Amino acid sequence: MNNPPKNTALINEEIKALKLFIILFYIIYFGYDIIYYFIDQNLLVPELPYTGKGLGIWLYIILLAILPISVYLINKKNKVYSVKYLYITTFLVIDLIHHALKYYDNSDMFRSGNAIEPFIVLFAPLFINKKYFWFVNIGIVIKYALLGLILKEPVVGLPIILLTILAAIAYILLNRFSSYLHTLTATHEELRQSEKLAVIGKMATAIGHEIRNPLSALKGFTQLLNENKTGNDTYYPIMIQEIDRINDIVSELMLLGRPKAINSEKNNIGEIIYYVTSILEQQAKACNISLSTKLHADVPTVLCDENQMKQVFINLIKNAIEAMPHGGEVVIEVKPYDQTSIAISIKDEGYGMAHDVIEKLGEPFYTTKENGNGLGLMVTKKIIEDHDGKMKITSELNKGTTFSIILPI
Ligand code: ADP
Ligand code: MG
Repeated sequence: MNNPPKNTALINEEIKALKLFIILFYIIYFGYDIIYYFIDQNLLVPELPYTGKGLGIWLYIILLAILPISVYLINKKNKVYSVKYLYITTFLVIDLIHHALKYYDNSDMFRSGNAIEPFIVLFAPLFINKKYFWFVNIGIVIKYALLGLILKEPVVGLPIILLTILAAIAYILLNRFSSYLHTLTATHEELRQSEKLAVIGKMATAIGHEIRNPLSALKGFTQLLNENKTGNDTYYPIMIQEIDRINDIVSELMLLGRPKAINSEKNNIGEIIYYVTSILEQQAKACNISLSTKLHADVPTVLCDENQMKQVFINLIKNAIEAMPHGGEVVIEVKPYDQTSIAISIKDEGYGMAHDVIEKLGEPFYTTKENGNGLGLMVTKKIIEDHDGKMKITSELNKGTTFSIILPI
């Protein structure tokens, strides 16, 4: 399947790691410098006064300036994965410039390094990204190598060696994380595949079963007709009814296989409801049921597939009618829900549903009706989901049922 590699859950994980990284980055960077400046400089090594050279305060201003840039990249540009590179690159470049300025042509002993570097190296595996890991470590080595060249200081070899040892530890961690993750993903994928096969198997059996019943009825009647060639008119309506049943099942199943709503247009839901109720009016009257619609003013149009929406309301209103064998009223209401969606409810006064029935709704072929096929609600659910909508059911035994649908506009 074409699972997008950058799905929301993964992006959220990256954001979590980034937040932790950024918070610790500032705490360690500034914390180290503050402690170094006030305690170490003045108390412990007074013979090494702060020369005040280098980038000075600009070092901190630039580092703080990347915070709003990062927020902008994450929120406005969706460039979540670039932020860590931005931090590392900025840090390495300004740190290089800072130290080069500070020690170039200067008799001060080269003292570089901040607790931030071991932190960056050890934190790298948490992003679980090999490219980033190598970027960080090669970047740091290049920085020290350049500093060594500029300042002609062989002493840069020391931090390079220390950081390389840390990088080796970090690499082991990264490898463990990656391999663990790969195993998890592979297991998950296997499980998904076998679940899918199980569902297909179940569907195939259920479909076969559903279609075989009307087929055997048809076969029986055809045989009878064949035997007493004169023909018996009473068989024909039943045969047509059975053929219709097969046709219904097949067309509802085909609807399921269709790709997401392709004919989306702005539609007035009120008009669709009007159309559907006019089709079902006769059936309702025959059962002594009145269909009443409450269309609120100012209901915005909805981007949807008109035919699929008709199917949804036919399914729900038909169910409502079928739930009231002794007559009653079905109330269909359309109203604005919030700024971005509308609500449609179909309320009946029928026999309602027990809790265990509600839980099974939407399962293929789940029906409590003698002549039902148990596909209506499954198709309805699928169409609503394809339209990014939601469906809620409230029902009380012998009181009635309400299906509420929220559709984004
Ligand atoms: P079918 O109508 O062919 O049975 P559906 O998927 O439309 O299939 O509905 C599945 C089951 O859900 C029905 O058999 C019925 O038990 C229950 N149901 C659906 N709508 C209602 C309703 N409005 N009132 C009571 N029960 C309902
Ligand atoms: Mg139905």
